Amino acid sequence: MKKSFRIIKFKKNKPVLQIKSVSKSFDGRPVLKKIDMEVYPGEIVGLVGPNGSGKSTLYGTIIGQYKVDSGDIFINQKKVTELPIHKRANMGISYLSQYRNVFDISVFENLMGVAELCIDQKQKRNELVEKLLFEFNLNHLRTLKASVLSGGETRRLQIARTLITKPKVILLDEPLAALDPIIVQEIQNYILKLQAQSTGVIITDHNINSVLPIVDRLYVIASNSIIASGKKDDVLRSDKAKKLYFGSFDN
Ligand code: ADP
Ligand code: MG
Repeated sequence: MKKSFRIIKFKKNKPVLQIKSVSKSFDGRPVLKKIDMEVYPGEIVGLVGPNGSGKSTLYGTIIGQYKVDSGDIFINQKKVTELPIHKRANMGISYLSQYRNVFDISVFENLMGVAELCIDQKQKRNELVEKLLFEFNLNHLRTLKASVLSGGETRRLQIARTLITKPKVILLDEPLAALDPIIVQEIQNYILKLQAQSTGVIITDHNINSVLPIVDRLYVIASNSIIASGKKDDVLRSDKAKKLYFGSFDN
């Protein structure tokens, strides 16, 4: 899965998501300090950093779960900082939680339940759900309850579900954690396919090795701030990132 094999079609000029100097504290304790980040259409961006460094909190501020203390968030150049979750979702933000948050109904119903909320026409709804069942290799599991799925199958279902709203940007929170190595590769390939529709993707992990093969750019978060960002080779060479996060990570 070398990057050189990938066809990258995204345009560099207009970000689908822009985070400008966002700060967030909980009960007076700073978690995010002046975070800046940009995601362009069709780009896969890695957000890596130790456990507790604020990755999920940053997602919470992007989707509208948390109100920021200061700073702004833009989706397709429109300011959304004050908008509620459902409005941001309608504008193209989709989110996959780091927790196994599928409903204990069938695989089919997990997808159809969301489709019914956002697609009016029955035929279009059915077509999309069938297409996703096929594309994410879930068709043979369609009648099974989501609680009996393996880790990899659950991730496939979760990723398929994020696509129902036809998002412009997808936030994946540790989608590769706690999976067997071969399943990590399988899910990495599904994530690469998200690029094809010029969707922007952010993927987090506390283990940089999981995301490295699939990202175009990287942001490293530690001590409440972005301590390094840019092309992955440059980030891997960053002394600050080595000191605060990678340790003696050997590329
Ligand atoms: P990560 O996803 O990088 O592991 P989190 O964003 O979950 O980190 O957490 C960052 C810090 O913010 C942690 O110290 C965590 O305890 C704290 N935190 C996260 N959510 C809340 C919350 N709702 N209330 C108070 N503190 C929180
Ligand atoms: Mg987290």
